[in-house]
Amino acid sequence: MENPEKYGFNSQLIHYSGHHDSYGAATVPIYQTSTFGFASAQDGADCFAGVKQGYMYTRIGNPTIKALERQVALLEHGCDSVALASGMAAVSTVYLGLLNAGDHVVSSSAVYGASRVLLEQHMARFGVDSTFVNTADIEQVKAAITPKTGMIYIETPANPTMEISDIKACAELAHGIGALLVVDNTFCSPYLSNPIDFGADVVLHSITKFINGHADIVGGIVIAKKVDVYSKLRNAMINFGGNMDPHQAYLVIRGLKTLGIRIDRAQDNARKVADFLASHPKVEWVKYPGL
Ligand SMILES: *Cc1c(COP(=O)(O)O)cnc(C)c1O
Repeated sequence: MENPEKYGFNSQLIHYSGHHDSYGAATVPIYQTSTFGFASAQDGADCFAGVKQGYMYTRIGNPTIKALERQVALLEHGCDSVALASGMAAVSTVYLGLLNAGDHVVSSSAVYGASRVLLEQHMARFGVDSTFVNTADIEQVKAAITPKTGMIYIETPANPTMEISDIKACAELAHGIGALLVVDNTFCSPYLSNPIDFGADVVLHSITKFINGHADIVGGIVIAKKVDVYSKLRNAMINFGGNMDPHQAYLVIRGLKTLGIRIDRAQDNARKVADFLASHPKVEWVKYPGL
């Protein structure tokens, strides 16, 4: 697909694979290989030195994984993305790649359980402090900021409380103090929300959920708005080693094609359930963002 930005979301899902080969394959082949050969020893040395582009080793880069990374970056309006073995590998790559000892994080208190444990129990061991507030209330976010705050981390809607945070207001707050805004966009998927358009610097997904959609793999992805942040994330992935594998990437590319129609149907169904419960005499409250 030439100039994929010009096409609609569902056309991008179906026709943009982020991959071209000399055979004109309509789908992305699975490059099930650990290593790649070089034309010469010099060629290999140039690739490892970074003076020449080329695939060397699948943890560092692989054409099947790259096709998925290009496609999701396009859908999320980012410059590029890094695919990982799980959603938690995506979250840990964000923390480990973008924070330093002495930094402080303001996070949604309703954040996915493991994302909170990672900050409270693990990043704390490396000198990263964190404060958890209801980020749906921007005043609480403001009040939690310290001179050391380097990141605001929100999940919106949050899993499973459905708390909604104001991405634009959080981005303005973060940028006002030179911090990054990270958004866990797992629940909306790029079909319903593109946080980068509202000022987010980094967007991440548990691919396990809507993006893959078929309950047959666990995976994660991190999308960066700008190249300097992308480079830090890729470097962290390569050195901590949480890469996705090519077969996993192939299944996600396959699942992603139907994202739009799956979400439309899921929303229709959710709305019916929410309306039924809201009008049921024995139900006291219903929490559904659409109501
Ligand atoms: C599931 C989930 C994660 C963790 O992803 P895994 O793929 O299970 O590692 C992170 N954030 C949210 C919002 C999730 O729903």
